Amino acid sequence: MKILKFCPECGQESLKWDGEKKWFCDNCGFTLYHNCAAAVAVVIKHGDQILLTRRNQDPGKGKLDLAGGFTDPHESAEETCARELFEEMKIKINPSKLNILMTLPNVYHYKGIDYNTLDIFFELEVDEKFTPELEITELSEVVWLKKGEIHLDEIAFDSQKKFFKKYLS
Ligand SMILES: [Zn+2]
Repeated sequence: MKILKFCPECGQESLKWDGEKKWFCDNCGFTLYHNCAAAVAVVIKHGDQILLTRRNQDPGKGKLDLAGGFTDPHESAEETCARELFEEMKIKINPSKLNILMTLPNVYHYKGIDYNTLDIFFELEVDEKFTPELEITELSEVVWLKKGEIHLDEIAFDSQKKFFKKYLS
């Protein structure tokens, strides 16, 4: 977070990170908040099987992931789920069928900035199993696994490991 040093208001090298959620300029009082961003992940389920994607890019290339992503401005979390599922797998869902499971705090590191997120986990029961068309640069395959076949060390991200530990128990 220390890469932002220069105040965009007064131009002095006086911007300070408070260690939690904002930058503040001692010189002119400029303040820039860096609040939590919302992100979603969707457990698509058919009976006792769950759809997971295998990542085709780092971080976590080759490991398992849930479909999802960051919520855009002015979007509901359910709308984010529908948009991400369409972008990643070209499937259309009814957002009212989503059930919220839990939320967990997480940190997403990207190019020198830590983004604090609130990850919102949803479940979507589908009538039949399907094999989606893939956005191949991001995902290499999808797999349908029974709960007992999901191993935490195969999950790409620590936040989802925490989720699966609770979800599978
Ligand atoms: Zn300033």
